[in-house]
Amino acid sequence: MTEQADPSRDRLKHHFAQRVIHQARQVLEVWQRLQRSEWNDAGMLELTEANLRLLRYAERFEQLEHAQLAQSIGASLDEVVENRGRLNSSLIARLNQAMQRLSRTGLRHGDAFEQTFLPPLRKPVYIALQDARRAERLAQQLDFFGLAAQALSDEHAFRAAITERHPAAIVMDVDFAGAGLELAASVQDGLEQKIPLLFFSHCDTDTPTRLAAVRAGGQEFFTGSLDASSLLERIEVLTHVSQYDPYKVLIVDDSKAQATHTERVLNSAGILTHTLTEPIQAMDALAEFQPDLIILDMYMPECNGTELAKVIRHNDRYVSVPIIYLSAEDDLDKQLDAMSEGGDDFLTKPIKPRHLIATVRNRAARARNLKARMVRDSLTGLYNHTHTLQLLEDACFRARREEHPLAFAMLDIDHFKKVNDTYGHPMGDRVIKSLALFLKQRLRKTDHIGRYGGEEFAVVLPDTDEQSALKVLEEIRQRFAEIHYPAQPQDLSCTFSCGIAMLQPGLDGNALSKRADEALYKAKHGGRNRVELYGDA
Ligand code: GH3
Ligand code: MG
Ligand code: MG
Repeated sequence: MTEQADPSRDRLKHHFAQRVIHQARQVLEVWQRLQRSEWNDAGMLELTEANLRLLRYAERFEQLEHAQLAQSIGASLDEVVENRGRLNSSLIARLNQAMQRLSRTGLRHGDAFEQTFLPPLRKPVYIALQDARRAERLAQQLDFFGLAAQALSDEHAFRAAITERHPAAIVMDVDFAGAGLELAASVQDGLEQKIPLLFFSHCDTDTPTRLAAVRAGGQEFFTGSLDASSLLERIEVLTHVSQYDPYKVLIVDDSKAQATHTERVLNSAGILTHTLTEPIQAMDALAEFQPDLIILDMYMPECNGTELAKVIRHNDRYVSVPIIYLSAEDDLDKQLDAMSEGGDDFLTKPIKPRHLIATVRNRAARARNLKARMVRDSLTGLYNHTHTLQLLEDACFRARREEHPLAFAMLDIDHFKKVNDTYGHPMGDRVIKSLALFLKQRLRKTDHIGRYGGEEFAVVLPDTDEQSALKVLEEIRQRFAEIHYPAQPQDLSCTFSCGIAMLQPGLDGNALSKRADEALYKAKHGGRNRVELYGDA
């Protein structure tokens, strides 16, 4: 009671609690940096110290959840030390899990949760486009979705802004002020820590321009229409707000000693491994472990590497998982034969650890990138129908094993045909995109959001019970209905209907999605603009 009556005390408490969030972010940043480089003592020390500071602040400012996480991270780090500085898969997995939870842990302030996630970014994003109005609009859209963005109109304003404050990222038009590339390069020059830089060009560009962009330090190149959704996604990745998952490698080798060696090398770089000495188990392991990459021994007694590669490739789901052969075979013809049987690379033993790590990282990164494009819908950047169903299937499997609840929701925009008919198709597209962005911003990173069909969406919510699912979607429904899209003859606002089904024993993904669909049907027939739970009377 007294606390609430004293706003200055409250503010002070809030101010100090923000330090916990800040320190949590420091810990995450060191952790992510370590995973991009190789693990070394200096990095470990930095992580340990950052974590100790987090623990201290969290205890002092009574942030229980942060304190617990810092303790569990500390315990894992102690184990690494006991293990003579060596990482193994279980430690990597445990650390990663704690880090992921840390990135999602909110601040408990008084009784209410201050925020569900860490604040997106501490610094703003600078937008420097040739077309100033477009820059303003983009900044507004990003702002609306919780990212502080500042549109800058000319070189002078840009330089002044940079001098005043370094941004989290720069979005730079190659034509900005007649020389965007040079301007960006000159700003980066001499900076110890480079600012993530995203280039944009209104029209499709030639290779020399793109080359110049790369040389100027550009990490991304957008052309055509620059939409807030894909921009947001890239900025999140570049500024490491989004989670970083360690790469996962499946090793199949009949020699235990060789497999252990490979594991050690990869683990030392923060890469998760799972080893099989019996190739026959490979398909189960693939489904369960979902590796980013597979390392196969060429010669194994039960079935050889090339045969196994063929079997793996027969499954649509794994056609794009890179397969690397690791073998003592140095006959080039045999190597080439193996490659034509579904392999992507051939490494000869003995191989230098650095070479192995670099090959695995590069291949895995490209595969992830490719997969992200394959499984996503191009309009919204959400998962497409097929992939959403696969994710649902995987989530069901996990929920059953861990005995956690799982909710599945289907959303459909109300009277959407009328939006198209009255305001035109492009406006319809905008509404679809904005709902996609809205869902991304409001749901947890662990939830899977898919575009199921035209104006239909699906959301997989792991570890979520009935009440929480209802609450979250009900809130999203209300907030979404409040958005006004400026339009002629009058502003437009839209609603959606939603059906939720909970995983029950004996249900698979298919049955679950049928139930959600039924609940959605009920919501539509009950008058639309509402959320219904399957089975509720
Ligand atoms: P209800 O409330 O019953 O859902 O009515 P509705 O009009 O939303 O439903 P209906 O399924 O009859 O119409 C969906 C419309 O969505 C028809 C289709 O033209 C439109 N649509 C589907 N995909 C897209 C898209 O990608 N962009 C746009 N602009 N429109 C789309
Ligand atoms: Mg529909
Ligand atoms: Mg509809």
